[in-house]
Amino acid sequence: MRKTVSFSRHTTNVFFHILTRCNLSCRHCYINPAQHGEQTLSPDIIARWLEVFTASGGKPNLILLGGEPTLHPHLDQVVHAARSLGYGSITIDTNGYLFHGILDKTSPEEVDYFSFSLDGATKDTNDAIRGNGCYEACTAGIREAVHRGYAASLIYTVSRDNIHELTQMPPLLEKLGVNRFFIQVIGLRGQSAGMNSASLQVERGTWKTLIPDVARQVADLGIAATYPKVFLEPDEQFECAGLVADNYFIFPNGRVYRCPLCEDYPIHSLFMDHDKLSPTGKINETDLFSLQIPEGCVMNKLLQPGNLLYKDDGSPEYRIACCMLKEEIS
Ligand code: SF4
Ligand code: SF4
Repeated sequence: MRKTVSFSRHTTNVFFHILTRCNLSCRHCYINPAQHGEQTLSPDIIARWLEVFTASGGKPNLILLGGEPTLHPHLDQVVHAARSLGYGSITIDTNGYLFHGILDKTSPEEVDYFSFSLDGATKDTNDAIRGNGCYEACTAGIREAVHRGYAASLIYTVSRDNIHELTQMPPLLEKLGVNRFFIQVIGLRGQSAGMNSASLQVERGTWKTLIPDVARQVADLGIAATYPKVFLEPDEQFECAGLVADNYFIFPNGRVYRCPLCEDYPIHSLFMDHDKLSPTGKINETDLFSLQIPEGCVMNKLLQPGNLLYKDDGSPEYRIACCMLKEEIS
């Protein structure tokens, strides 16, 4: 069944970058230490910040991110703390190196998903993007996690450098025992913003045909497949998640954003002030969310105007959806 996953208005999602350090330097990395800080947060601070989102009794979803979060020597303590606080689900995003024996220190009952990043179906393509040795490390990490009973997701960031191998992914996912497959679109953030990643973006026709086809093939294998909507159909409503959803993107320097496309700029709407979530002054990202433009997402128009095409009368040929709007085939 194919459905558009609209923003959950009643669930809080906490995307927590507990450090920005990483053992890799992927071509399209979106981490930007100048904006996000270079510190590794202590388990105590992380627990206090996590508590902010459960204080009202909700059960938020937690996604632990880096850099590479398994480089944090106390990631297991962070997972235990989040469980005690009542987080509804815990996902750890990893490049697959699984440092500090994290699989030994947590359990499948505590961690809902380990989410691995692989950007090619072959070693050559993946390692050209993510670095030598990455393919072996990541696929070995997936096998080990699955062997120990953990559920595994796989994230594939599609670009012109690896789209030719997307069709090889369904059998690989099945072989590895992956439970969920996320196709991502390359964005203009972090390091990728400085390397002309607009030229790496997949063109609209391909996005609208190949991506859903591959997702369907993956779903036919019993693996849930999700990909960003990106282009809205004329009859589809545009909504900005910054206005209607409850997402928080937290960085080690205390910045908290509601929109991931804003993360490269000091326009965060919230920050951690003595372990409390406090609003920032104007102008910030929320001033952009309510701007109504015919092209759809305001941040896309500011950051990626090359994604847009216009008719002779000056009106846009299509609208760009919020980057958080997904299609899911299960
Ligand atoms: S994309 Fe992820 S794994 Fe790659 S360098 Fe950036 S933080 Fe590390
Ligand atoms: S990506 Fe665009 S539509 Fe989505 S939250 Fe950000 S500004 Fe709003």
